[in-house]
Amino acid sequence: MTGATPPDRDPLALYAIGLGSNRRHARFGDPRQVLMAALAALEADDIEPVDASPIVATAPLGPSRRRFANAAVLVASSLSPPEMLARLKAIEAAFGRRTGQRWSARTLDLDILLWSGGAWSDGDLTIPHPAMTARAFVLDPLATVAPGWRHPIAARSIRQLAARLRRPRPANSADALY
Ligand code: ATP
Ligand code: CA
Ligand code: CA
Repeated sequence: MTGATPPDRDPLALYAIGLGSNRRHARFGDPRQVLMAALAALEADDIEPVDASPIVATAPLGPSRRRFANAAVLVASSLSPPEMLARLKAIEAAFGRRTGQRWSARTLDLDILLWSGGAWSDGDLTIPHPAMTARAFVLDPLATVAPGWRHPIAARSIRQLAARLRRPRPANSADALY
């Protein structure tokens, strides 16, 4: 025995990433094709895709009148949450997303939905993504890859949260789901 020990490796975290597009990309094509290219772009030495949902077409939310394509992917990564956010923003930028476009047409939107470390909150980043529990276009694809993942604040599984959105409920309650 030499006594040599293998170098320490950062433990891998699991992230659920939400993908959205409602704008064509000159090279990649329509929003669905943008998301397929984005899934490929996510893979890196330090980001390993674990599972990807089908890509779903969704009616637009907010003032934008375009249709969205949405998907969710699970990735294993050694990156910290701020590092993951920076990586996602770099990929958005590489797909031509301009800043200051909230709710408007955008080529690619990448959000951190869930992290195996639980909750995270700093000035730039909140995990779980605060709006996810009110959005079927997030929960439905996510439920295909992480149905049993328990939302750390809502304390329900993604499957339960998605089912709850499909039940009739009083108007104006969409933002009060925690
Ligand atoms: P929404 O947050 O309602 O889905 P959006 O995705 O259109 O809207 P953006 O303009 O893409 O909003 O992001 C605004 C900022 O939100 C980002 O610069 C980022 O710092 C911050 N942010 C906070 N939490 C998250 C998260 N979980 N994932 C991605 N960005 C986040
Ligand atoms: Ca978003
Ligand atoms: Ca975003």
